Amino acid sequence: MCASHLSAYVEKRIGNNMRNYKMIKGRRRIGIAVSGGKDSQVMMHAMRKLIGKDRRRELIAITVDEGIRGYRDKSIECVVKYAELLGIEHHIFSFNDFAVQMDALMNKGRTDPCSYCGVFRRWILNKASRELSLDALAIGHNLDDVVQTLQLNIMRNEPLRIARFTPNGGVFNDRMFVPRIRPMFNIPEKEIIVYALIKSIPFHNGECPYAGHALRNPVREFINDMESKYPGIKFRMLNSYLSLLNHLNFPALRDNSILRCSSCGEPSSSKICKRCSFLNSAISHS
Ligand code: SF4
Repeated sequence: MCASHLSAYVEKRIGNNMRNYKMIKGRRRIGIAVSGGKDSQVMMHAMRKLIGKDRRRELIAITVDEGIRGYRDKSIECVVKYAELLGIEHHIFSFNDFAVQMDALMNKGRTDPCSYCGVFRRWILNKASRELSLDALAIGHNLDDVVQTLQLNIMRNEPLRIARFTPNGGVFNDRMFVPRIRPMFNIPEKEIIVYALIKSIPFHNGECPYAGHALRNPVREFINDMESKYPGIKFRMLNSYLSLLNHLNFPALRDNSILRCSSCGEPSSSKICKRCSFLNSAISHS
């Protein structure tokens, strides 16, 4: 494809995804989770282009600062400038206020940073989205992220997370849970990078210093290796997952039996949410 056809193709799929999965239907304030990396910067650009002129809707960008010096501070600079250029309201929420900063956690000798980081980030994103009265929060997961996450959730025995990881994540009908939408869930990472280059979208290309600890790395390598040997396998994994979703039937989802964390009051699948139990364990190791 030439540059103009590829960029039109990417935008068309994002638009189709939002329409076919009813991602913004009936929703007025749409949040965009933006880290400053290629995926979220592309998503902010595309959503601004596709729905930015719709006067019935507002776009609000949210960035979570995990406290990783030399990495997140640089990517945040990128978001701040680009959100301003696009005229999108932007808010930053810090681990410092709601959790433990990742640098501080790693200084305590932790070896599993991504587990903590992911739990804290998801908790903050939901709370921040609610405080900003968002009707949905767009997450920049691409096809590669989706199939890796699916594989990781299987390996970690996380059936509820598998069921909840949908393109339009409104599985729990709970007033305290802001639905996540994934407008780029079926777009390969390579196409997103090319789209960013074609459109001259600025993004931070650095790698988190703690990324080497992630189980995602070998999973990514395995799936990429399979894709090079058996082209199309990522799409087949995605399509298997979408077909399976129609048959998943968990009582916790059916009954909408989401609980409230007895410590922080946020939605949780157990008595104490993971953020609070991780926070307690991080503090007790200090
Ligand atoms: Fe957090 Fe791990 Fe991602 Fe670094 S690589 S930002 S520690 S989830």
